[in-house]
Amino acid sequence: METQILSPDEIEKAALIIKRGGLVAMPTETVYGLAADALNPEAVAAIFKAKGRPMDNPLIVHISELEQIYGLVSEFPEKARILAEKFWPGPLTVILPKSEVIPDEVSAGLTTVAVRFPSNPIARRLISLSCPLAAPSANLSGSPSPTNARHVYDDMKNRIDAIIDGGECDVGVESTVITLAEDPPRLLRPGGITPEQLREAIGEVIIDDAVFNPLKADRAAPSPGMKYKHYSPRADVVLLRGDINRFAEYVNSHYDKDTAALCYDEDIQGLRCEHISIGRAHDYNTQAHRLFTALRTADERGFKKVYAHCPGTSGVELAIYNRIIRAAGFEVIEL
Ligand code: AMP
Ligand code: MG
Repeated sequence: METQILSPDEIEKAALIIKRGGLVAMPTETVYGLAADALNPEAVAAIFKAKGRPMDNPLIVHISELEQIYGLVSEFPEKARILAEKFWPGPLTVILPKSEVIPDEVSAGLTTVAVRFPSNPIARRLISLSCPLAAPSANLSGSPSPTNARHVYDDMKNRIDAIIDGGECDVGVESTVITLAEDPPRLLRPGGITPEQLREAIGEVIIDDAVFNPLKADRAAPSPGMKYKHYSPRADVVLLRGDINRFAEYVNSHYDKDTAALCYDEDIQGLRCEHISIGRAHDYNTQAHRLFTALRTADERGFKKVYAHCPGTSGVELAIYNRIIRAAGFEVIEL
């Protein structure tokens, strides 16, 4: 099939493709999503095929009005109501016990379903013109998530029906995922909505160990996505934890012509090798916004090794840390 690139004013065409069981990549405020009718099992199965996604990794269902969630879940506890009221529409996904309408393909056989109400107006309009949409990130499984239409095209050309080009994504990393199918709720993936914000709204929130560490071999994945290699460019990424001086010292004494530093603006001055900056050292929103493009750029420029300056773990930085440590296969050098 030939992949059509649609502009946002051709959204009716995109809705028709969805209603016929096709696949459309859509912009959201987090990353681009690869969308299909969430209640059509064949259409959902086609998402897994196009991405090369393991069938045991469930999908998030996207809605365009709060009321739609009541048909998709079998329970809607008070804490879910508070989170929905406070953070929707926006980059937060909640996991709840699923209703019977959710096909096993969407939930990968689990008894729960992940639901999100995105704020991006193009995504919302596509949903309201069609139906609730199952949509994982629109990249080939394992590679960095796409934050613009070109990234999607590079990965998905001729594997999907259409891409709606809605420009660059705002947040740049995937949604925060929290499960409310247990109490206290547990954060499974950090994102634009921080643990601090969640705790302020609903009290205790556990952060799953797999946010920081590789999944232990004897433990079933609480969120199946955690067990797969993720966000990796082809280049070998190594995280360096230390201040600006130690970072420069280490990189300057270890680089060769195939090496780049993935760093902050403030680092650039002290570095002798090629570099890709993700923004100023304390501008976490910009860093999140640029991270996946930076990882793709490292491959496009042919670097084989990337030394990345290790981020901290509070606020939005936790989302950046979680992605980059997976891109690095959990390899961290303490300086
Ligand atoms: P993606 O849409 O590619 O960003 O991935 C969605 C993430 O949410 C993956 O890590 C999934 O494993 C996770 N997820 C989706 N549904 C569930 C669920 N019902 N229970 C736990 N994790 C889920
Ligand atoms: Mg993904």
